Amino acid sequence: MKNCNPPPKAVNSCDLTLCMLSSGSKGNSIYISNGTTSILVDAGLSGIEIERRMKSKELLPEKLDAIVISHEHADHIHGVGVLSRRYSIPVYISNKTFKAASPFLGKVYEFKKFECGEKFKINNLIFHPFSISHDAEDTAGFTVSQNSTKIGIATDLGIATTMVKEHLKKCSVLILEANHDPDMLENGPYPWPLKQRIKSRTGHLSNEQSKALLQEIQHDELEHVILSHISETNNTPQKAISVVGQAITCCRPNLDFASQYQSGALLQISDRYSSL
Ligand SMILES: [Zn+2]
Ligand SMILES: [Zn+2]
Repeated sequence: MKNCNPPPKAVNSCDLTLCMLSSGSKGNSIYISNGTTSILVDAGLSGIEIERRMKSKELLPEKLDAIVISHEHADHIHGVGVLSRRYSIPVYISNKTFKAASPFLGKVYEFKKFECGEKFKINNLIFHPFSISHDAEDTAGFTVSQNSTKIGIATDLGIATTMVKEHLKKCSVLILEANHDPDMLENGPYPWPLKQRIKSRTGHLSNEQSKALLQEIQHDELEHVILSHISETNNTPQKAISVVGQAITCCRPNLDFASQYQSGALLQISDRYSSL
């Protein structure tokens, strides 16, 4: 992965900075900033751990403008309430997810509602949430755009529908689920009903399914692919990279994976439009 070094103080305010703070069943959180607006997509680790991981990258929780929630599973919302209250951060959430998540979030600074399919802005970042078949009340994937630069986020997919593929086209950065290796899942220790749930249209995407998705949506301007929500029981990062990497034929993007045990590198994504 292209490592942006030194960290964001030196980044052009038009560029986007992205950091995978965590991804996996223990917690998911993605930091995105354009220098003036900074947000988290999900905050599924404890508030303290998210603070610790941000500060280790010289990112300031008190500068967060929003936390945007994909769905109500604990690995996506665990730290939301604490961070929102501590730093007065608005929480963006769909109406249906709000109903399912609010008992677990406690009091938050402010809720702002969105609907899947309808774009919304947080300052000058444009979010386009879209529906995903994963088994929560109203799971959302997102694209986050600034000018011609687009980040696609789809970490709990179930299956990749035609609509999901449409949204994920023309992204500069793709954060894609590669949850399990089918053989490891089949022969692994999970009880049969859980195996069935993971494999189903409302579960998680396998390495092979992620490869098929990437084959369809790769394009010449794709710069980075980050594999996420990798199971530590039913997959390995090496398997995920090896299988999904076979999809890449055209554009040679950087291919990396996100861990749940440590934050990834700070990734700087040039805003091509603003540098013209
Ligand atoms: Zn989930
Ligand atoms: Zn999840």
